[in-house]
Amino acid sequence: MKGRSGKAQPTWSAALGPYKLRPMADTIFSKILRGDIPCHKVYEDDLVFAFLDIGPLSFGHTLVIPKEEVATLDQLSDETAAAMGRVLPRLCRAIKAVTGAEQFNVLQNNGPMAHQAVFHVHFHIIPKPSVDRGLVMEWSSTKLDPDEGARLATALNKEMGG
Ligand code: 5GP
Repeated sequence: MKGRSGKAQPTWSAALGPYKLRPMADTIFSKILRGDIPCHKVYEDDLVFAFLDIGPLSFGHTLVIPKEEVATLDQLSDETAAAMGRVLPRLCRAIKAVTGAEQFNVLQNNGPMAHQAVFHVHFHIIPKPSVDRGLVMEWSSTKLDPDEGARLATALNKEMGG
């Protein structure tokens, strides 16, 4: 598959087994954007739309989506990415002010193994009012090997054009 730059884009490995990334289709979020199904709208501009999650992890759980219809964050155009980045902190401030929750998580899932269920890019803003409400996650950290870290950082820096 060719991306915007004309370069071949990485595809999801066969090693994922049943967890294959589904092609971008007309998702439930496209239907919300078109107004075909209702939502509780929180914010809209030319590039971005935000609405309440139908299955909130806590009071105020909000989804922020681009109007650009791509499945995962790496596919998003710079213009839309900038618009999303500009509005996310403002939405967080509004959610804090209205819900009274001081703490929150911003979550963004890409691919079925990474818990993405709707294949249209979205950020979750999830208030964390208490230990047992909001996002509860397991954080299975490992230890970074210094040599491997140095090689990895160099490779990534090169990939980024540095
Ligand atoms: P994901 O697991 O893909 O990161 O999250 C998808 C989110 O979309 C879930 O939190 C789910 O509750 C929410 N969602 C799915 N369908 C609808 C819908 O029809 N309306 C709204 N408002 N949220 C939805």
